[in-house]
Amino acid sequence: MIPVNMEKIAPGGTGSSPPCLTPRPRGVYLVRPIFGVYVPLFSILTLFPDAVEPYLGASILGLARKKGLVEYLCVDFRDFARDRHRTVDDRPFGGGPGMVLRPEPIAACVEWLEHEHGPFRKLALCPAGTPFRQSLAEELSTTERVLLLCGRYEGYDQRLLDELGFETVSLGDYVLSGGELGAMAITEAAVRLIPGVLGDDRSATEDSFHGGGGLDHPHYTRPRVWREREVPEVLFSGNHESIAEWRAEQAQERTLDRRPDLAKDDNQN
Ligand code: SAM
Repeated sequence: MIPVNMEKIAPGGTGSSPPCLTPRPRGVYLVRPIFGVYVPLFSILTLFPDAVEPYLGASILGLARKKGLVEYLCVDFRDFARDRHRTVDDRPFGGGPGMVLRPEPIAACVEWLEHEHGPFRKLALCPAGTPFRQSLAEELSTTERVLLLCGRYEGYDQRLLDELGFETVSLGDYVLSGGELGAMAITEAAVRLIPGVLGDDRSATEDSFHGGGGLDHPHYTRPRVWREREVPEVLFSGNHESIAEWRAEQAQERTLDRRPDLAKDDNQN
């Protein structure tokens, strides 16, 4: 287990911060290395940390943290708003419905995090972004620091993304009310690929999309007959070569049938 020291910053706490930042963000954790060793850090910037934190603490993501294989930092960027009302949004220039996230609080939050931890790979959740794929999850699983920005309302002031060098990532061709579900999907897809996180590391390499591949084959377990449906006979043959061959055929058939785009040599996974 890699040792990591978690220091909780209390309201008005004493940890270091860029002098430009007052007041300090309240109730966020700083992750500090011990013996100079860092574990990968996923930082999620959101207006709804209460929605995100329980998910990060549960199941595989929670276990990964307990095993010391990853650390999460959930930050409410409203804590970086400078005005009395802690405003983070405003009406869009040019008119139209809804509100837009102002650049200053988010920029202050990102700059504070980078001051404390070093540079992050910065991704903003955005329906107009590059579709999220397994290849990006694979990249992020070996990235030291990842920052995921969750939008709300009509989204971000474009200058924030340009100025801070954000990449934009989309979860799919539909619109959610916020980026939190996307940030959790990305975190989970990446963290489960970190060696030691899953019970058997082979699980991840045999999953759909791994290494630019196609879909997984069908799986079966007990009982052998269920509602008159039988498990394919080859799976009881004890012949590992025949089983592997059957699974490969099934995977290929499924891929061609359901996702012919993945069967092409130049697929984007
Ligand atoms: N006006 C934006 C548009 O049409 O592209 C939609 C904004 S949406 C209501 C608010 C926030 O939810 C976005 O800034 C983004 O963070 C998140 N979001 C919604 N749908 C998303 C998707 N498909 N992929 C990633 N993020 C999404």
